[in-house]
Amino acid sequence: MSCDTPSGMISVQQCRERLLAAVAPLTATETLTLEQATDRILADSLAARLDLPLEDNSAMDGYALHAEDLDGRNAPEIVATVLAGQSFGERLEAGQCVRIMTGAPVPAGAEAVVMQERTRVDGNRLHLGEAVPAGNNIRRRGEDIRTGAPLLPAGRRLGPAEIGLLASQGIASVTVVRRLKVALVSTGDELVAPGSSPGPGQIHDSNRYMLRAALERLGVEVIDPGVIRDDRAELEHTLERLDRQADAIITSGGVSVGEADHVRAVLESLGEIHLWKVAIKPGKPFAFGRLPGSMLFGLPGNPVSALVTLYQLALPALVRMQGGQWKAPPTLRARLADPLRKKPGRADYQRGVLEYDDKGEPVVHSTGGQGSAILTSLTGANCFIVLPAEQGDLQAGEFVTVEPFAPPL
Ligand code: AMP
Ligand code: MG
Repeated sequence: MSCDTPSGMISVQQCRERLLAAVAPLTATETLTLEQATDRILADSLAARLDLPLEDNSAMDGYALHAEDLDGRNAPEIVATVLAGQSFGERLEAGQCVRIMTGAPVPAGAEAVVMQERTRVDGNRLHLGEAVPAGNNIRRRGEDIRTGAPLLPAGRRLGPAEIGLLASQGIASVTVVRRLKVALVSTGDELVAPGSSPGPGQIHDSNRYMLRAALERLGVEVIDPGVIRDDRAELEHTLERLDRQADAIITSGGVSVGEADHVRAVLESLGEIHLWKVAIKPGKPFAFGRLPGSMLFGLPGNPVSALVTLYQLALPALVRMQGGQWKAPPTLRARLADPLRKKPGRADYQRGVLEYDDKGEPVVHSTGGQGSAILTSLTGANCFIVLPAEQGDLQAGEFVTVEPFAPPL
């Protein structure tokens, strides 16, 4: 993304870098069972404590053959059957073979496994159609990972594959970074909770529920004090309390220059607050601050702006605070199915649906109206259409950069 932005604005990239530089990873840890550890952040690097596979074993259902019987000229005698979970226990001699199932340990002395389908059994004799290469269908001890080799790095989020790898190493519990505590603050006299009917001029509070869903997907512990009125004393009181409880506070709304926007004034009285104009659409005003006990992320009030700035701006810093490492999601080039309106000035993260046409080429459709309060531009979308700051209107058929949604979207 280009860093050239109109004066007074910072680029998305610059904003992310400033936030990353300002936050520090949590250091407190806790030890959890594997069942509790999904999506948690590994606190320390781990080394393999076992070879994987644990022993040479068969990759196929078939017959384990002695080195002298691989050429297929002899018809070795079938002396045993070894199922997964069993062991032959003796050394295989020339002229002997064993029927063996996938995952069963290959007996000492065996040099290859031949697939059942490539053989013919006549009484207790095994006939091979052709010679079998040495080593065939044997999964060697330690071919996946050797004892002492790096297993997982500190900071790795434990997804299904990581949990599986830990289990395969016999590891039953794991030390992870303690959960990040994030307080979510919705401000505004116009907000009522879903479930109650809005009076004249009122709207349902959508941001608190939406941002909570995103944070829960990140494995964050959410502290939710409910909607806070546009009342300076109430705000001050609540923010002071949350600052003592949480590692981060995320507010939405109340940071522009509107009459009732007390958030900014209260925050300025509590700590060191920066209000940045980020060259991002949706979502220009973005506040960031350091309070005595927590970091403050002030998102815009409009719901699309709030979710997009959480994802595009605050996420790298939140992941760093969690003890993890944020990586920029991969992008691709796709053909536009629809024309797009775009004013030069700010990088635009329009919402789209990425598909593949009948030739297998990527094509992206707009989700329609892209206003910063139009939440249906996000529902059903599976990607951002990322338009650089200087870009103007686009025609259907032009190529654009597409960034598929990644968690927590
Ligand atoms: P503000 O920055 O407080 O002036 O808010 C900008 C716009 O976002 C206004 O239309 C607000 O009504 C709206 N808004 C602020 N907070 C929320 C919220 N929690 N849920 C839905 N809309 C909101
Ligand atoms: Mg407001």
